This record gives sequence, structure tokens and C-alpha cells, in this order.
Amino acid sequence: MADTERVLRSTRVVTPEGTRAASVAVADGTVTAVLPYEAPLPGTARLTDLGDDVLLPGLVDTHVHVNDPGRTEWEGFWTATRAAAAGGITTLVDMPLNSLPPTTTVGHLRTKQRAAASRAHVDVGFWGGALPGNALDLRPLHEAGVFGFKAFLSPSGVDEFPHLGPEQLARTLAEIAALDGLLIVHAEDPGHLAAAPRCGGPKYADFLASRPRDAEDTAVALLLAQAKRLDARVHILHLSSSDALPLIAEARSDGVRVTVETCPHYLTLTAEEVPDGASEFKCCPPIREAANRDPLWRALADGVIDCVVTDHSPSTADLKTADFATAWGGISGLQLSLPAVWTEARGRGHGLEDVVRWMSTRPAELVGLGTRKGAIAPGRDADFAVLAPDETFTVDPEGLQHRNPVTAYAGRTLYGVVKSTWLRGRRVMTDGEFTAPKGRLLTRLP
Ligand SMILES: [Zn+2]
Repeated sequence: MADTERVLRSTRVVTPEGTRAASVAVADGTVTAVLPYEAPLPGTARLTDLGDDVLLPGLVDTHVHVNDPGRTEWEGFWTATRAAAAGGITTLVDMPLNSLPPTTTVGHLRTKQRAAASRAHVDVGFWGGALPGNALDLRPLHEAGVFGFKAFLSPSGVDEFPHLGPEQLARTLAEIAALDGLLIVHAEDPGHLAAAPRCGGPKYADFLASRPRDAEDTAVALLLAQAKRLDARVHILHLSSSDALPLIAEARSDGVRVTVETCPHYLTLTAEEVPDGASEFKCCPPIREAANRDPLWRALADGVIDCVVTDHSPSTADLKTADFATAWGGISGLQLSLPAVWTEARGRGHGLEDVVRWMSTRPAELVGLGTRKGAIAPGRDADFAVLAPDETFTVDPEGLQHRNPVTAYAGRTLYGVVKSTWLRGRRVMTDGEFTAPKGRLLTRLP
């Protein structure tokens, strides 16, 4: 084993066995040991004493729309990965749509990897896209290292990424099951959306009524039935409707291989507080009522929901008009996900161990990186976030690293200041200052 190069010492290290005072030894970018706090410094190792700041495993955000290349004015690898590093995220997985081209062929994947390669401040992996017409591209994309495939069951919002009808879903899922791959799904039913009241204008209540819970519940039920029939592995993206939770719990107890994520905005914001015209709060499915939010928290506590990831999906400010029907749908929250979730979690009696499970360990497992990421333990990458959990700050959109200063969290006071972020044993962000990019491109582990 290589000689220890560095030891990070904190009175509060979040490990899989709980939070404790410890010294974390690092060599060659890997955690080699979690030692007692007072352990003597080995050989020539350098000590970083973090005092009472908490040492967390770097977060893993498996739902980020980087939009690069093609819509780089919305976001890009340089800005997104800086925002990630600023927020304690050390691995992100990029969604296959909103960039041009979308990640639907190996050629397109290579284009995206080239765009990311020299600009990544954190590690970056890629999802592929499953479209009605690209069945023959799925296996090559899988072999090229995408972590799974994304599909929509209703219109995606961009013309170049059409959704799958029920027959196409069945065929696609069979293809992916044959690869033992993973299908991740935007689950809203187009029939229920078409039958819902039309949305127009600045009233949030009208927008909410246009994306009803039963649209989600119906699509989730369809997906679970297909996953059961084919014994396929599926993941439900950005679950908002708490009414779907019993279906998911039942399917799981029935042996269906399903995982579920929700997002910081569904857990921390409510429909009741969205001002009219404030389309920075628009996303699909929508932020729902406070009464919908409490069951989502219970489902996290019970493990029915596995992960909390951002669905960071920004656009330029001019597309966030005051009309909820036409404004771009997507919430920008990459840099703020840890403090936003932590602020609400601590108020509900959860500890940082819970936040780490939802935002690092389980997302790493979702993409098959559970042996490398997602925990402070020997053999894992030395990816860390150093957090002052009791310090607060007020969100100033102009001060964020996101490409566009638009966020639903503007003006909120949040707990949890990320002091530094470490990637494979090297500091990549310290108090808002960044090193040159050190991120790597990740592919699915065989
Ligand atoms: Zn998304």
C-alpha cells in the first residue's frame, strides 16, 4: 500500500458506522484508513485539521442537465461543475437531453465527453437517452459506459427528445433488461396531462392544476407493471406525487426492482408559497402542496424513496417569463442542494448521516459506483465535502456559480456552509476559490 500522503482530522467524520471523531488517511487519491482521532501522523503525511467542521463523503448528484454543447448559454460543464464543487458535490451524472446533440448515440456521447473533458471541476458521468427511434443505439451506448438510459412517458419539453408511448416503452425496457441495464423514467402520463385543465398566465395554482398527481401516479403504475412483467430494473425520476408512494412500496414488496429519487425543491418548497409569475419555481412534475411534502419526508425516512438529487435544469433568464404555460420548466439548484435539504432535514429531526445516505451513498449505488464513491471508507475515492452545519447564509443568486442567476432559493437563509471540497485527496474548492479542473470522466463499471 502507498504511504499515507495526507490525514484529514475532524471531531465529526460521517462514516458508514456513524459520525465520530476520526483521522482519515489518504494515499493515491484513495481513503486508506479511518483511524482514531488521536492516531499519530504516519511518516511524512501532511495533516489538515478541520476542527469541528464536519467531514462528509462528497455528494453524488445523478440528475443534472449540463446542456453542453448546444445550449451552453443555459449552463455548461465549466459552470455546472464549479457550482457542484461549491456545493460539496464531487460526482455528477449528466442527463442526455437539453444539450445539442442529445446523448442518444455513441457519437453524441463522444461529443459530450469532449465538451466535458477539460472543464470538469468534479467527476462527470453520462446517462444515455432512449428515444422511439434509437433501439439499435442502446447496446453500443451501454458498452461505451453510460450509466443507464433515460426515457420520457410524456413530452420532454424539447423537440429533439421525443417521448415513448406504451408499446415503445415495453420494447425499450425489454432491450435494456437484456443488457441488465437501468431505465430511468420521467413518469407523467400524457393522457392525464391532456385531460387536465389548461394552464395559462401567471397563477401558480393554474399551473399546478395542469400537472395533477394522477398523471404521475398513472405513469408510475404503468412503469411498475412493465418492470414486473420483464423483471427489468427501473428508476423513477423526480417523484413529486406522494400518492404514488404506496404503489411503489407495494411493487417493491412484490419483488419489482425499482428505485426512486425526489428532489430538494419538492422537499423544501411548497405550492402555497410560490408567488404568481415566479416561474423560477416551475418544473415538471410541479412543486406541490405542503400536505404532499410531509409524506415525501416520511418515505425518505422509511427508505421508500432512495435518493435526493437536484434535477438542476436551468435556462437563460429570458426564458423564465411570468407565464407558467410558456416559461422554461426547470429549477436551478445544483450549488444549493446540500444546504437546502440539510436546513429542512435538521428541522425534521434528521442527522447528516441521513442526508449523506440520500445524497451520496444511495445515488452512488444507483449508478453502480458504490464501491468507489458515496462513503468515507477504506478503498473509496477520497472525495469529501467539509461542512459547517450550524453556520447560515442567505442565497444571493448573483453570488452562485450557476451560469444564470435564477434560482427558486433566492433570498432564503439556509444552514450549512460548504468550506471546502476534495476530489481524490486534493482540494478543488476552498471558501469559493477553485483550483484548475481536476475532474475525470466516469463510465459505468463493468
Ligand atoms: Zn431532469
